[in-house]
Amino acid sequence: MKLLATAAVLIGFVTAPVLILAILVPMIAGGTQADQRQSAVPGACKNWDADLPATSGLTPRQLQRAALIYDTALEVGLGPHAAVVGIATALRESSLGADPRSKRPDANHNIGLFQQRILPGWHADGTTISENMEILLDDRYQAQVFFQGHTTTNGWHIPGLADIPGWQQLTIAQAAQKVQVSALPDAYAKHEPAASALVAALAKNPNATVNDPCEPHDLSLDCPATPNSIGNENGQTPDAVRAMRCVAAKWPQIRTIGGLRPGDPRDHGTGRAVDVMIPNWHTPTGHALGTEIAAWAQTNATALGVTYVIWDRKIWSVAHAGKGWRDCSEGSCYAGPDPSAAHLDHVHVSVAGDQGTDSPATSASGAVLPIDKGKYRISAHYGQPGTRWATRHTGLDFAAPTGTPIRAVTAGTIISAHNTHGVYGNLTKIRATDGTETWYAHQSRITAHEGQRVAAGQNIGEVGASGNASGPHLHLEVRTNGRTTDPLVWLHNKGLQP
Ligand SMILES: [Zn+2]
Ligand SMILES: [Zn+2]
Repeated sequence: MKLLATAAVLIGFVTAPVLILAILVPMIAGGTQADQRQSAVPGACKNWDADLPATSGLTPRQLQRAALIYDTALEVGLGPHAAVVGIATALRESSLGADPRSKRPDANHNIGLFQQRILPGWHADGTTISENMEILLDDRYQAQVFFQGHTTTNGWHIPGLADIPGWQQLTIAQAAQKVQVSALPDAYAKHEPAASALVAALAKNPNATVNDPCEPHDLSLDCPATPNSIGNENGQTPDAVRAMRCVAAKWPQIRTIGGLRPGDPRDHGTGRAVDVMIPNWHTPTGHALGTEIAAWAQTNATALGVTYVIWDRKIWSVAHAGKGWRDCSEGSCYAGPDPSAAHLDHVHVSVAGDQGTDSPATSASGAVLPIDKGKYRISAHYGQPGTRWATRHTGLDFAAPTGTPIRAVTAGTIISAHNTHGVYGNLTKIRATDGTETWYAHQSRITAHEGQRVAAGQNIGEVGASGNASGPHLHLEVRTNGRTTDPLVWLHNKGLQP
């Protein structure tokens, strides 16, 4: 894992509930999103070298959140049994924050580590949904609310674990269900063993220290692919893809990210730029958000492969880093009245293309399914005999409607992308750095081009029925050392369950 330049400072776990509220109140009253982000960075990062349950299979980030929940349970005086309830609940609700869907409101307006509700006014007096969203993306705050509940200023109380009479006598699953009011209490039970093991390990390491930069997801490849509703990764270079993903994952309030603009004479024409559109840019909150994102791109320029950033009629570039932010009026960018051209409504980030120190194109980690879960069914397995195949089926078929986006299963280079005028139809081949080739056949449309480097999860085409296909599906073939192998087994070995 690539570690950020961000200093890994151990603050220790001394924050009392009162202090948390003291921080929150001014935040809501008029603080910037930058302030909220600061408070969201937990001082809870622990060194898990010792006694980590080897079976946990959790990422450092997930473990940090488990530690945060544990410490919060002790701080509020509920103890380790409550910590088990909390961790089991967060495992169920958000996979300890690792489920990317938990970062955005679901159909029931729930969000975050414990999937708490963002309804107006719930978390501070008069807060809007988007303000509540910001508040609830603070893991520590959610843990606090889970254990102690939250009383709104008009006196209405959202119950927490401490409010459940006799919770100590309930099973872990029952206690979790009472707080969450979930229709599926059994779903919590299966996480109890893992939660108990984590709490036991944490109890043994009361003085564990920080050695992790707390926000690895900022730049890491753990970032899920940019949702298509927010931005299109097609044709973007690996550095640009990473910037899009990081921004989308880190700032859920960002709804639109621009990328490739064919024909643009500058970086947007070559997939080396990202435009982060700032909602409500003309308000103080919007302006603070843009400033925060611009500063983030500047701070992480090396890791992101950034060459320059433009925001609010100012430019900062790596080439002239020593001069800091320079006014556009000095020449190198537009400083006139048009808000878009003057970069008042968006942050422009230019990147080198493939210079970031954690390039998605070179990482072997982070394989993904070629089609999003729930949008396909497996219609033919590897090795299956059938009349449509000369001998046996050489791939795994994902049946899905024509036009369904296809993702690169691994990072790598597109070594071929064209119509074979044969059985494969429109076929794209990707070679990963370890030599593994993944082939994507029968596409209705190829959107990647030969020689392009792609990140895992990047869209490369659309499902179709070109070539020898009786209906629309993706035929995925995996080749190692020049031979086909069973994609199902191969994907399983990467931790994926098609
Ligand atoms: Zn731009
Ligand atoms: Zn097939």
